[in-house]
Amino acid sequence: MSQSCSRRAFLQSSAAGLAGVACTAEPAVASASLAPATRLRSPVAVASENGLQAVQIAVEKMLAGWRPVDAAVAGVTVVEDDPLDDSVGLGGLPNEEGVVELDACVMDGPSGLAGAVAALQGIQNPSQVALKVMRHTDHVLLVGEGALRFARSYGFPVVELLTAASRKVWLEWRERRGAADKWLHPDENGPHGKAWFDQWKHKTGTIHLGAVDANGDCGSCTTTSGLAFKIPGRVGDSPLIGCGNYCDNDVGTGGSTGRGEACILANGGAFIVQQMAAGKSPTDACVAAVQRVVRLTKVKRLLDDQGRPNFQVKFYAVGKNGQFGAASMYPSKFAVADDAGARLLDTAAQFATAPR
Ligand code: ASP
Repeated sequence: MSQSCSRRAFLQSSAAGLAGVACTAEPAVASASLAPATRLRSPVAVASENGLQAVQIAVEKMLAGWRPVDAAVAGVTVVEDDPLDDSVGLGGLPNEEGVVELDACVMDGPSGLAGAVAALQGIQNPSQVALKVMRHTDHVLLVGEGALRFARSYGFPVVELLTAASRKVWLEWRERRGAADKWLHPDENGPHGKAWFDQWKHKTGTIHLGAVDANGDCGSCTTTSGLAFKIPGRVGDSPLIGCGNYCDNDVGTGGSTGRGEACILANGGAFIVQQMAAGKSPTDACVAAVQRVVRLTKVKRLLDDQGRPNFQVKFYAVGKNGQFGAASMYPSKFAVADDAGARLLDTAAQFATAPR
């Protein structure tokens, strides 16, 4: 019998009730076309919409010989360092107590290793700390105080990540969030601004970047400040291997941004890569992940009046063969760079109109 389990052997062992005897190997990668026959024309990088510059940098780094995972981190570092991007690193929107807490992970195809940090405070570049976890420890995920001490031991400076702009947004949120507390926004003495509050209700943001070099080697990274005004200690999908990010060097990369809770419940990143391994194109694999989220979303508070999920989620994929794609619950864009340059493209949207 081949290394993977034949269907007949599976049926026979099931019928005989031989639990645990056979079929422990996962199915082989179905699509032979995944493996590039020759070198790819160019490295490829795919990212969320805020990653236009990041994908360009990642491709340049891979052209210069960097490993895809290092190229991915070089790309997202620009976004982490940007005080005007309120979804990642410096200037990220904080938790409900006004403290910026960051999540990130990296995955390296050739070694099959990963590193991650979650609920990390005061460190501007969590993706670089995740690389250190991957390269210098036998662990995958460090959280909170332990992650901070680990980062400091490698010389990462502790900085105030809350910028004046993100503090202003947080203070406004605190003053408007409910009628049952004693916070008061000055507007409440005049015209009431409910629309302002609503725009932050599901505010998320992140950068995911998947990279494949000309040899077909893969690497990926996801980094975020997570859900705005989250409960302290909340961890989203971004630092969880198999959720906000996954990479299999025989197949490609898969990642996510948007409502992290939905991606965790669907195991988005790993699901996408499995779909590609079974022969789907990157776009179709991402569409399948969105449809999985639709199917798994059942409670009323998460559905709009048409029964559609009332949140955004986006999935991104790059195949080992250089094909790429993205899909989302509602219309959106994603960034890609290859030998045709860096550009924004439309995702395949499950629903054409915004949730109500
Ligand atoms: N997925 C991230 C999280 O839930 C947020 C986002 O991508 O917008 O933490």
